[in-house]
Amino acid sequence: MTNLTIGDDLLASLSIESREQLRTYRDLILHWNQRFNLTALESEEAVDQRLIGDALRLLPTIDVVLTRRPDGRRLVDLGTGAGLPGVAIKIARPDLDVTLIDATQKKVHFVQHVIDELGLTGTHTIHGRAEDIGRMMDYRQQYAIGTARAVAALPTLLELLLPLIEPGGTFLLPKGEAIAEELAAGRRAAGMLGGRILDATLLPECAGAPVTRLVTGVKLRSTSDRYPRRAGIPNREPLGRDSP
Ligand code: SAH
Repeated sequence: MTNLTIGDDLLASLSIESREQLRTYRDLILHWNQRFNLTALESEEAVDQRLIGDALRLLPTIDVVLTRRPDGRRLVDLGTGAGLPGVAIKIARPDLDVTLIDATQKKVHFVQHVIDELGLTGTHTIHGRAEDIGRMMDYRQQYAIGTARAVAALPTLLELLLPLIEPGGTFLLPKGEAIAEELAAGRRAAGMLGGRILDATLLPECAGAPVTRLVTGVKLRSTSDRYPRRAGIPNREPLGRDSP
């Protein structure tokens, strides 16, 4: 097991145990990737930097959100795939209660395996589509923080994610650099869903990680019962396409 090739700046706030768990997590990703396709990335450096390091870049913002609302410790990661950014965040901030959702059974299976191997407590997986889960009372508007990376364009993503976030909660969405068009539609969609996009700033550069804009926003009021629409519609007919 080789050390993580992640900059010290990103690891500085992590305990030794968390760093060891991240290393084990990296090795599990690479090991399982030999059997089925979890990620296109194949080297330790790539998984360290492009997946785990990229996820750790959300920590400063999460810490600010937690300072403002210390009791808001429930985080949901939608479309978590191999567990990103949700599992990396949980390892780095073990006090959070983290729920990981994905529509693909084998990915949920892998994430559950990681949770069991690392003995992570307060970590839950749900297999299903956000369009269905967002309508279930056990999950609707239950989370103080929502994350999602590389799942869908903003208008679609917000319709899938905002129903899960409680009023007063926050969403953090890592995105590529050029998102002007998506952002305009995303702002309109957020308003229709009871939320507001506050910011879309570039994160500080980090060796090996892609240029990332972090779209942040808040949920202001309850989402209408109309949303999310049924499976597939948020993607086929995204909200916010037309100017009001
Ligand atoms: N967040 C991970 C994975 C991105 S791939 C990462 O950054 O590496 C996108 C994932 O979103 C896939 O695993 C897919 O199964 C899941 N997904 C896509 N649409 C979804 C939906 N409507 N509900 C739940 N999961 C969804």
